[in-house]
Amino acid sequence: MIDQRIVIVGGGHAAAQMCAGLVEAGMGGHTTLICGEAILPYQRPPLSKGFLKTLDEVAQLHRAETWYAAGGVTIKLGEPAIALDRTRRIVSLRNGEQIAYDRLVLATGGRARLLADLPAGLSNVATLRSAVDAQALRLQMNDCASMTIIGGGFIGLEFAATARSLGKQVTVAESAPRLLARAVSPEVSSHVLQVHRAAGIDIHLDARISGFEIDESRLAAIRLDGTRHETDLLLLGIGALPETGLAESAGLNCENGIVVDEYMVTSDPAILAIGDCTSFPDIGSGRRLRLESVQNANDQARTAIATLTGSRRPHNAVPWFWSEQGSLRLQMAGLPPANAERCKRPGNKPESFSIFHFADGVLCCVESVNAPLDHLMARKMLEAGRSPEAARVCDAAVPLKSLL
Ligand SMILES: Cc1cc2nc3c(=O)[nH]c(=O)nc-3n(C[C@H](O)[C@H](O)[C@H](O)COP(=O)(O)OP(=O)(O)OC[C@H]3O[C@@H](n4cnc5c(N)ncnc54)[C@H](O)[C@@H]3O)c2cc1C
Repeated sequence: MIDQRIVIVGGGHAAAQMCAGLVEAGMGGHTTLICGEAILPYQRPPLSKGFLKTLDEVAQLHRAETWYAAGGVTIKLGEPAIALDRTRRIVSLRNGEQIAYDRLVLATGGRARLLADLPAGLSNVATLRSAVDAQALRLQMNDCASMTIIGGGFIGLEFAATARSLGKQVTVAESAPRLLARAVSPEVSSHVLQVHRAAGIDIHLDARISGFEIDESRLAAIRLDGTRHETDLLLLGIGALPETGLAESAGLNCENGIVVDEYMVTSDPAILAIGDCTSFPDIGSGRRLRLESVQNANDQARTAIATLTGSRRPHNAVPWFWSEQGSLRLQMAGLPPANAERCKRPGNKPESFSIFHFADGVLCCVESVNAPLDHLMARKMLEAGRSPEAARVCDAAVPLKSLL
């Protein structure tokens, strides 16, 4: 294994974790990282939060260039992989360079979803996925008084809270009847709605956008719930699509992501895939999932490292996620089934609480609002449910429901 050439295509959280694990395993000298962005892997979460508030804030790198050099990792920045020859095991870069691999890891992440009926290239319409996007956005925000966000999901609401904290007039248009509808319970949705409205954000639920008014290369106004609504800047926060182009053109199985097994191996045994771009079998829920979170990217990288270093073990991590929106810190551990029984437990501060979800009496998910200790405890308990080792150090799971 130590002689194998490992090539990682990516440059986000999953790729950074992969490099860390391979260096630790003494395989850094056999590792090449191909990163489409012209910057070393960096932290994406701050981009919708603090990064937007200060013009000179720089992206937070996972590791400095010297760390990769010391670990022996070869890095190709700013040249995306554009083709994959699975027979000859070669990746081609946009500049024509060809790189041979024995094992390939695809960590290509996702890209922002666009609106089909909005022309591309309008100067005041933005998406937020990369440091380049965030740098452009914060420059534009400087000159804007009013902003509209289409989509009341995590990125849209984080951006809305940040913009509001900068004194902007902010409108959010969400087509569903509640905020964060795909990710959190109705109780958390309604709390989030109340906090953002109290902060002065104008939120439209069940929003209907019936048209866009374009003035040369700018969006001048949108028609929202039958009313003309002028805006200086529009952010599309309507979710992300898995970046599967390279995998699909090479004939790998893809269905809402690059399909992998529990060891992160794709339909080609020489190729693994990890992070936002994958569709994987979740042992806990028995469902095939595609998750977009830092935790998922990191944990899948750990599983892939175990696969590559010959200590294969099935992926069995408890999913968890956090989001910061102004004064709100939301944390989720586990995944709620649709028919779960829910119990609300107040926290020790006025604006804090947790929702515990039980399926057939077994804890399966905890959502915490400004209650980080509940979240930590929930993660331990959910891990205990998945692994006998964790269960030995956490025996509080059984009596929990009767305590709530
Ligand atoms: C603004 C923002 C805020 C977020 N906030 C949170 C948060 O608070 N909490 C949380 O848990 N998660 C958050 N997320 C989600 C989290 O950042 C992602 O789940 C995580 O980055 C996924 O890591 P990844 O490595 O799979 O993909 P990414 O981080 O998206 O990295 C993919 C990389 O692959 C590169 N790439 C793609 N195709 C190619 C190619 N052909 N050749 C070479 N390189 C290629 C891309 O340029 C990119 O650099 C946030 C995401 C965004 C965008």
